[in-house]
Amino acid sequence: MEGNPLLPLPEGMQIDQMQASDKGVNITVIATHPTSCCPLCRCPSRSIHSRYRRTLQDVPCGGRRVQLVLCVRKFFCRNALCERKIFTERLPELVRPWAQMTIRYCQQITSIGLATCGKGGTRLAARLGMHTTRQTILRHIMNLPDPPLGSILYLGIDDFSFRRGCRFGTILVNLESRRVVDLLPDREADTSAAWMRQHPDLKAVSRDRGGAYSSAAAQGAPQATECADRFHLLKNLGEALEGLLAHHLAARCKRQTQAILEEQAPVWHSKRATSISPTLLRLQHHRREERLAHYEQVIALRQLGLSHAAIASQVGIGASTVQSWLAAGMFPERKPRQQGSRLDPYLPYIFQRWTQGCHNIACIFRELVEQGYRGSYASVHGNIVRLLPEGRKNQASSLSKTPALVPSRHATFLFLRRPEDLRVEEQETVTTLRLIHPEVDLAYDLVQQFAQMLRTRTGEHLDAWLDQVERSNLPELQSFAVGVEKDKAAVRAGLTWWINNGMVEGHVNKLKLIKRQGYGRAGFPLLRKRVLHAL
Ligand SMILES: [Zn+2]
Repeated sequence: MEGNPLLPLPEGMQIDQMQASDKGVNITVIATHPTSCCPLCRCPSRSIHSRYRRTLQDVPCGGRRVQLVLCVRKFFCRNALCERKIFTERLPELVRPWAQMTIRYCQQITSIGLATCGKGGTRLAARLGMHTTRQTILRHIMNLPDPPLGSILYLGIDDFSFRRGCRFGTILVNLESRRVVDLLPDREADTSAAWMRQHPDLKAVSRDRGGAYSSAAAQGAPQATECADRFHLLKNLGEALEGLLAHHLAARCKRQTQAILEEQAPVWHSKRATSISPTLLRLQHHRREERLAHYEQVIALRQLGLSHAAIASQVGIGASTVQSWLAAGMFPERKPRQQGSRLDPYLPYIFQRWTQGCHNIACIFRELVEQGYRGSYASVHGNIVRLLPEGRKNQASSLSKTPALVPSRHATFLFLRRPEDLRVEEQETVTTLRLIHPEVDLAYDLVQQFAQMLRTRTGEHLDAWLDQVERSNLPELQSFAVGVEKDKAAVRAGLTWWINNGMVEGHVNKLKLIKRQGYGRAGFPLLRKRVLHAL
């Protein structure tokens, strides 16, 4: 490239004039080469027919628009055998025939378009001194040729959604070059198979656990080894495990509730009786003792100068209780409970519903009203709460004996992780979970064995593992094993080979970003171009 240092030009071209105005810079450029080649017969010619001017947009200079005024010559073709008699000189390094902008300007517009989107690209280009339209940017992207594919040996295939849960496409990644090689407009087996048929070099196809890509590989690349993706395998195992854990955690919770209610039953029944039973008397006595102890603690802490809130949190009672006790100036005895409230006839029903597992007081209240109860909601609520504190304490003490357990999803996560990566409290949770039931303990061992196989790529142990699961009597894991059995060769390959779909997932994330840059309005052809040429 020659010309001014600020404006490189192809060989044989030079700047003739330069004019700066408010709108930008106008630069007149002339070609100095004495000859030009006919585009049809390639014969050089010196005979100039005429000259004309052509105006081109060029890349901005110092933030100002640049317009090139090209003085272009027309030549006679002197080759008698050539059909073309007159031709225009070609400047292939600077501009394409008929174009209104230089090649470098087009390249910059395209790069801006690829990094942003049509509308955003227009705005960014304007800031950089290039005035263009959305349509121009999109046209340049669509005119880009597909990158050369070369030979693909290891292919990763997965789906992505155009609209979540509605419409899906397929992404294909060369696992060696780590580049997206193509996008397909759907996730049908036939479409993917047709694509694979055009690539007979394929040695291995890494795919998810779904059937479509498996049958696509079987049809389109029968010579290739199928590999089930490790992430999807672990995900499927996790789903099976979560079912098992949820079942056992729910059973444990039910057992606990039952135990609490059984301890509560005498209290409920004593309430049913019109006379106060010795049990209830003893209970009331204990409650008074407890309350008195709290009261004395409150007074002592107050003398130390603690605030109401601090006392409340330390003693474990409400701040309003602290306030009223301190205001009372003496230990406030409870008013004797009125016997024979309107709720009494309904207590057996409440107890029955409670033991059935309905702990929604509002729901119980509605049911009582339907049965003719005329009392207040507060009374139902108050009675249930009053009759349950023993249960709550039991619950609290029993929970303190056995640490609080985590939701099944979290438990699954802990079961699947490497034991050495767990924090101390997480290890304790795992130990507690394993103690719930021998089945849970066995499931942990089996899941860890599978995860170990996956981490160390020792797929040769798969058969032995499947045998253990079959003998285990764990239906959730057995159904996972049935799925593995159906797809065993691919699973074994996935547990043994280096290839997997992690990279494909990464590209799907990138694709989502590109898709959203177009505000979800880009059609498939544009999305495909942008992903294939992503920077
Ligand atoms: Zn010619």
